Amino acid sequence: MSSHVFFFGQGKSEGDPKRRDILGGKGAGLAEMTVLGLPVPPGFTISTEACNHYSDKGAHPPGLQDAVAAALKRVEGVMGATFGDAKNPLLVSVRSGARASMPGMMDTILNLGLNDVTVEGLATRTNNPRFAYDAYRRFIAMYGSVAMGASKEPFEHVLDEARQRLVKARGMAVTAMNAEELRRVLPDSELPLEELKTVVAQFKAVVQKETGSPFPSDPQAQLWGAIEAVFGSWGNHRAVVYRKMHDIPASWGTACNIQSMVFGNMGDTSATGVCFTRDPSTGEKRVFGEWLPNAQGEDVVAGIRTPLPVGAGTPGTKGNSLEERMPKPHGELMRMCAVLEKHFRDMQDVEFTIQDGTLWMLQCRNGKRAARAAVRLAVEMVKEGLITEDEAVLRVDPTSLNQLLHPTLDPSAPRNQLAAGLGASPGAASGHIVFSADDAEKQGELGKPVILVRVDTSPEDIHGMKAARGILTARGGMTSHAAVVARGMGKPCVAGCSALAINYALGQMTITLYDEKGNPKGSTMLKQGDIITMDGGTGQVFLGPVPTVNATLSGDFAQLMAWADARRTLKVRANADTPLDAHTARGFGAQGIGLCRTEHMFFDEARIAAVREMILSDNVDQRQHALAKLLPFQKEDFVGLFREMKGLPVTIRLLDPPLHEFLPHKPEQLAQLARDMKVTVEKLQQRVSELHEFNPMLGHRGCRLAVTFPEIYEMQVRAILEAARQVQKEGLGVEPEIMIPLTISLPELNRMKVLVDKVAKEVFGAGDAVPFKFGTMIEIPRAALLADELAQTAEFFSFGTNDLTQCTLGLSRDDAGKFLPSYVDSALLPRDPFVSIDQEGVGSLVKTACEKGRKARPDIKLGVCGEHGGDPQSVEFFHGVGLAYVSCSPFRVPIARLAAAQAALKSKGSKGGVGTA
Ligand code: ADP
Ligand code: MG
Ligand code: MG
Repeated sequence: MSSHVFFFGQGKSEGDPKRRDILGGKGAGLAEMTVLGLPVPPGFTISTEACNHYSDKGAHPPGLQDAVAAALKRVEGVMGATFGDAKNPLLVSVRSGARASMPGMMDTILNLGLNDVTVEGLATRTNNPRFAYDAYRRFIAMYGSVAMGASKEPFEHVLDEARQRLVKARGMAVTAMNAEELRRVLPDSELPLEELKTVVAQFKAVVQKETGSPFPSDPQAQLWGAIEAVFGSWGNHRAVVYRKMHDIPASWGTACNIQSMVFGNMGDTSATGVCFTRDPSTGEKRVFGEWLPNAQGEDVVAGIRTPLPVGAGTPGTKGNSLEERMPKPHGELMRMCAVLEKHFRDMQDVEFTIQDGTLWMLQCRNGKRAARAAVRLAVEMVKEGLITEDEAVLRVDPTSLNQLLHPTLDPSAPRNQLAAGLGASPGAASGHIVFSADDAEKQGELGKPVILVRVDTSPEDIHGMKAARGILTARGGMTSHAAVVARGMGKPCVAGCSALAINYALGQMTITLYDEKGNPKGSTMLKQGDIITMDGGTGQVFLGPVPTVNATLSGDFAQLMAWADARRTLKVRANADTPLDAHTARGFGAQGIGLCRTEHMFFDEARIAAVREMILSDNVDQRQHALAKLLPFQKEDFVGLFREMKGLPVTIRLLDPPLHEFLPHKPEQLAQLARDMKVTVEKLQQRVSELHEFNPMLGHRGCRLAVTFPEIYEMQVRAILEAARQVQKEGLGVEPEIMIPLTISLPELNRMKVLVDKVAKEVFGAGDAVPFKFGTMIEIPRAALLADELAQTAEFFSFGTNDLTQCTLGLSRDDAGKFLPSYVDSALLPRDPFVSIDQEGVGSLVKTACEKGRKARPDIKLGVCGEHGGDPQSVEFFHGVGLAYVSCSPFRVPIARLAAAQAALKSKGSKGGVGTA
C-alpha cells in the first residue's frame, strides 16, 4: 500500500475515516459508510497530499502509478469486472473531494473506461444497449469538458438537434417549440438507442473540434487524464472564489476518489437522488429529498428534468414519490439515513443511486442548513439525547443568526403576487431585477438592491449571488445549485419558478399568470431594473416592493440562546443612540448600552440649527445661549434611554466627531443662521472658513473640543446627570457611565474629570447624588500604551476599535475600501481589519492596555464598543483577553451572545465542532 492510495470496499477501509485532511470530506464519508456496513460501491481514494505534490511539482509522487494500479486490481476483484476489458468492462467514477465540502466547485467524471469496444461489451452484458450508449455519451461530454476543457454548449446543441429529429420522426406538432420547451417535452431519458449512437459520434467530433485532440479511447489514458483534471481543478477560478468566501486555505488540496460505477440510468427500476436526513430549510424531523427515475449523477441537481419528492405526501406529486414508486429501496434508504444520523450525530446530506431496485450510497456529509433549521436541529437533537447542550451551542454558526434577525414580509401589507416557486432559502428581499451575475455585482457595488433572476445558476454565478439581495430561478429544485449556495450564504432564494420565461438577450422575462385553479389567465413582462419582492420561505414572488416586519425570537431560538447565556462569561451590550435602538437592543438581549453616540442626537432637524449656532459662536456668551437651547433636548434623550434600559449600565460618550460634519454648506442655511445669531452672513462665512480643517478626522474633535470649548461637555454632563436624577426619582435604577473620547494623556483626562466633577456638584448639590462612573475610550495607540496612567483617573476603559484600527494601521476606514480588498485577496493581511480585529497589531495594543489598566486599578471595567464587538472571531479574541463585555449594533447582539458562549466553551476545551463544515 502506498501512503497516498487508500482502498475502501467490502466493509473495510484502509484510510482512517477520521482523517478528512488526508482523504478529503467525500473520501472520509465513503470510508465511514463502508465501515458502517452501508452499501457503497468499492473504490479507492488518492490523498490530498498527492494533490499538493502534483500542484507543487507538476508531477505525481513516486510510486503513485503502481499504487493506483494495485488498488484498481482490488476493485476489479470485488466487482468481477476488468477495467478496459472488451467483454466485461469495469467502469469507474473519478470524483474530487476536499476537506471542506465545496458544492459544485470541483468536477466529477462518470462512466470512465468506456470506448467503442467496451461500450459494446457493456451493452451485451447488461442486455441494455440503450443504457450503454447513454452512459457513453454522458462520459464523452463530461470528460471532454472537465478533463479536456471543451465548452459545454456544443454538446447541448448536438442533443437539441437529436430532439428535433425525434420530434420530426414522431410527427409531433411541436415545430413552434424553442429548445427550452423541447427539453421539457423530450428529456434525455427519451432518446432512443439509434439517436444516442449518432450523438456519441457527434460528441467525439465536438471534442476534436473544441480541443484539437481526439477523444482518448485508452482507458488508462482516460484515468490519468481524469485524475490530473481533479487535481488541477483545485486551482480553477470558481474553486478559488469559493475558498476565499469561506476562508478555506489553498494548502489543503483535494483528494481524488475512484469508485466503481453503479447505474441509475438502466431503466425504470433504476434511479438517482439526493436527500437530507431532516428538512434543511425548517429543520423538521423528516427525510427530505428529490429523485429522478432512469437518471444518472447530477441530473437531479442540474435542473434538466424537474425532480420528484422522495417522501409521499407532497401536494401535486401523488404517486410519483420514491416512497410510492419504489417502496423497497425507499425503506432501505430510510434505514440508512437513520444509521448515518445516529453515527454522525448531525443532519446528513446523502447521495444515492438505485440500480435495478438495489440501493447504493454514494456520499454523505453534514448537510448545509438554513439558520432556522440549524437552530431547530440543534435544540431537537439535545432533546432526543443525540448531542449535549454544549454541542448544540457550538453547532450553530453565530453569523448565520443574521438570517433569523432580519425582517420578513409584513403579513398585513398589500401585495400583488406574480408567481410562486419553491421556497428554497428563507428570508424576504426586494430589489431591482438583474439577469446576469456580472450585472448583479456591478449594481450591488453601487449600493443598489438587486434580485438576481436566472434560468438556473452555476458556480460561475457565485459573485453575482453574493452581491444580490435574493436569487430567483426558473428551474431547479430544493437541491439545485442556486438553493444550496443561497442557503449557505443566508440569502433568500426562490427556485424552480416555472412561470418565468427569461430572455437574457432582451433583458426581460415573461411571467405566465395563473388563476386560483391553476389555469393560465394571461402574462406580464418585466424588464431589467423593475422591482420585485420575493419570499424565500414561501416561494412567492411579488410585483414591486412589499414592506417587512421584524422577526420574533422565541421557541427554539430562545432555548438555544438560554443555553448560550448560561455558558458565556462575556457580557453583551449594544451600541444604541436612541430609545428606539435601546428598545430593539433589549429585545435582542443586550445587557446595557456600551456606546451612546451623543452627536447623532445633534443631527435632528429640530436641533441642528442650535448645534450650528453653538459651533460658530465666537464668544462664550453666544455659545452658552445656543447650548441652553440644546440642554432640554439632550436631557430628554437621556431620560428616554435610562427609562428603556431599566437600571442596566448606559455608557454615554461625550461629543466626538469633527465639527465640519455639522457646518452649514448651503447659502440659505447660512443666511438663516446669520439671522438667528444676529450676525452678518459675511462674518459667519468667515467663521466657517476659520473652522476648515485639512484632516478633520485627526483634527479638532473628541475631548480636544472640550479643552477649547468646555461649555459643550458641561452641557452634556449636566443633561446626563439631571436625566439620571429624574429617572431615579421615578423609582427606576440608573447606571450612567460618562465616557471621554479620543483621550491621549492623563493631564488631559484629568482636565475632563475636573469638568465633570464640577458639573456633578452643581447638579446634585448636597444631596440626591446619583452614582456614576467616569471613564475613557482607548482609541489612540498612545492611550493604549499609557493605559496605566489613564487608569489612575478612569474607572473604565472602552476600546474604540474602529479608531484604534485606523490609527494603528494608519488607514482611513472610509477610504480603505479602494485598496484593502487587494490586501486581503493577496494575503498581505489575513482579514479586513475593520471587520475582524487585527489580533497581532491592534489586538496587542488592547492586551497591553488591559494589563496596564488592571495593574493600576485592579477593578477597572474593560469593554469594547467598535464594530468588532459583533464579529464572532473578534469576540473570541476579546474573551481571551478577559474583557467584561463587548458592545455591538442591536441586530448583532444575539450573534455576539452565541459567539461569546462558543468562545467560553472552546477555551474550556469542550468537544464538538461547528456542524456545518
Ligand atoms: P459533487 O462533489 O459535485 O457532489 P460527486 O463526486 O458527488 O460530485 O459526483 C457527482 C454525481 O455523480 C453525484 O450525483 C454522485 O452521486 C454521482 N456519482 C459519483 N460517483 C458515482 C458512482 N461511482 N456511481 C454512480 N454515481 C456516481
Ligand atoms: Mg458537482
Ligand atoms: Mg456529490
